[in-house]
Formats: sequence, C-alpha cells, structure tokens
Amino acid sequence: ALTTGIVGLPNVGKSTLFNAITQAGAESANYPFCTIDPNVGIVEVPDERLQKLTELVKPKKTIPTAFEFTDIAGIVKGASKGEGLGNKFLSHIRQVDAISQVVRCFDDENITHVSGKVDPISDIETINLELVLADLESVEKRIARVQKMAKQKDKEALAEFNVLTKLKEAFEEEQPARSVELTEEEEKIVYGFHLLTKKPVLYVANVDEDDLLDPTDNEYVAKVREYAAKEGAEVIVVCAKIESELAELDGEEKDAFLEDIGISEPGLNKLIRASYDLLGLATYFTAGEQEVRAWTFRLGMKAPQAAGIIHTDFERGFIRAEIVAYDDLVEAGTMAIAKEKGKVRLEGKEYIVKDGDVIHFRFNV
Ligand code: GDP
Repeated sequence: ALTTGIVGLPNVGKSTLFNAITQAGAESANYPFCTIDPNVGIVEVPDERLQKLTELVKPKKTIPTAFEFTDIAGIVKGASKGEGLGNKFLSHIRQVDAISQVVRCFDDENITHVSGKVDPISDIETINLELVLADLESVEKRIARVQKMAKQKDKEALAEFNVLTKLKEAFEEEQPARSVELTEEEEKIVYGFHLLTKKPVLYVANVDEDDLLDPTDNEYVAKVREYAAKEGAEVIVVCAKIESELAELDGEEKDAFLEDIGISEPGLNKLIRASYDLLGLATYFTAGEQEVRAWTFRLGMKAPQAAGIIHTDFERGFIRAEIVAYDDLVEAGTMAIAKEKGKVRLEGKEYIVKDGDVIHFRFNV
C-alpha cells in the first residue's frame, strides 16, 4: 500500500500527531494487507458516501478503506552526513511515497526548539536541504558510473547522463528534484533513481489550540503558506495536542468536543484526504447485502487492476464490471431503479475507474 511518511525536526509535535493517528487506529483485522510495524499507523479514510451507501443498501457490515502513515523519526541538521539517525532516516524516507512535513507553528517556552527559536521556514529549509544533499550524493555517484559510457556515445547512458547533470545543477542550488522540469522520457529515467526530493510533499502546520479556529493571525502559518505556495504544495493546519485528545473519543463525545472547539471535523481527516490527493489516490465502492466497502485505488487504473486490489483472482479472471456512479445510485435510491434508468453500465478491460464508482466485478475463477 502507498504510505505517507511523517517527518519533522525534534519537538515539533510529530509523535503527538502520530500517536493520534495510531489511537484513531483502524481495526487491523479488516486490513490484512496493511503493514504491521510500530512505525506505521493505519487510519480509516473518512468518507460520507460510505454512510449514505450503508443507508441505501443496509448491509450486514460496512468497511471503510484504510490509509497508512509512517513515522520517520530522527532527522536533524547534518543527517545527510550521518548525523543523528542520518542514514537510517534517509533509508526510511526512501521507502515512503509522499512526505508530510510537520512544522512547529506554536510558541511554548517550556518546549525547547532544536535551533533555539521557533522559525518554521528555517526548519523546512533545514530538512529540505538534508534531502537535497542526500540526492546530490546519489546523483554524483551515478554520474561517475555512467560518465564513461556516455562519452562513448552509448545512447542510454548519454540520456541518463544529461538528466543527471540537470538534477545535479538543481541540487547545487538547493532546489528539490520536484522543481526540475522534465520531459516524459526524462521522467521515466528519473523514476528509477528513487530520489528523496522527487516525492510529493505537504506541510502540516502544528498550531496552538487558540489558533486552530482562526490561524490567520498566526504569522508562522502565513510564512509556511507563502513558502508552500512557491512550491505548489499544500498546507494543513492542525493542533497535534487536540488531535491526540480527539483520537481518544468516539461518537457523541467526539462530536461534542468538536463542537466545543468549533471545528467541523478532526484535522486528521483533512490530513488523510490531502495525503490521498497527493498520492493520486481515489475510492471506489462495492455494495452488496453482506458488505458495503470502500477500496483505495490509484487514479488512472483500469478496471481489472482495480479489481485486483480486492483479490488477485479478480484481476486474473476479470470478465467485466457493472458500474454505477455514486451520485446516480443515490439519486435513483436503489440499485434496481438505477438499472431501470439505464444508469448501470457494463464496462470492459479498458475502462478507467473513477472516484465514486460503485462496482460489481464479474470474473472467472
Ligand atoms: P516530536 O519530537 O516532533 O515528536 O514532538 P512531540 O510530539 O514529542 O512534541 C514535543 C512537545 O511539544 C511535547 O511536549 C508536546 O506535548 C508539545 N506539543 C505538541 N503539539 C503541540 C501543540 O500543538 N501546542 C503546544 N503548546 N504543544 C505541543
């Protein structure tokens, strides 16, 4: 499964946020394919459509889809040179698909800041620089390897050499690989490098509870937003402390607490959705009398691949898919009426699955 790594300097609120994630935890029995690892937190993806489908179909059970966050501790200045948990940190980051960078945007005299002062931009730059330096090193190593072949006019080596040089120049100017414009061909080559700064990023501004409702007065948040906008990255404002309190509550208690602080949903929900978007993920549904269930797929997937998420047999023996769009089903009220109205389509192997599709797969075993 695709996962987002939570990173940040010490004392910015990472563990508090990660604890909230594990507290909110999904029932892991439902997700046997998820990673079992103390550093991985599995959360259910909040989706109102699932409730609505449950009302319509009245199944025996309803199962949301899940999403994984990985806690990546140990970044400090100098990580790329092996400081702190340096190399371990970098290898953990290499394994995630996207990065959520937690940034301290709260003042608290009792909680030391590693560099002595709350300064979100300097924090972001410290982390991003370590990642750029690590990428610079891998690119230089690779250049040394392909250089000779490139000089001998080996076509593949030359193409690789050229794109490596392009990246190296960017890294030397402390720019991430994300910011380098590449052709489709180059993108393919770069994909194989597994660069840290190629991974999509979002920033999590951790604010005090007083600022949660209206963070516009928080100048740290404003700075983070400005920085993120230049990168085209998103900013999610949370209060990690509140998230950890919310995660311990359920149902009415949780609703009451949310109402009390004046927010409509936990910040965690926003973070999950943003991470989902960042990874190009979407949700389709299966809706039978036994079970209504949400499934995560990657946008662009064709029907057989999407079926394979449920079970590899579904992909192998795929015949066709009966599909109704969520909105059409809700409007019709029942599957039978949706069928009568011609809203249920039969789609084949080439169909590209859409967010909100309610699907019944037909397959051979
Ligand atoms: P980490 O080192 O990044 O994992 O940071 P922690 O999650 O351990 O948090 C460091 C300290 O900051 C702890 O004492 C937390 O209780 C506190 N903290 C975390 N989030 C907030 C917040 O939103 N506001 C305030 N005032 N303190 C926070």
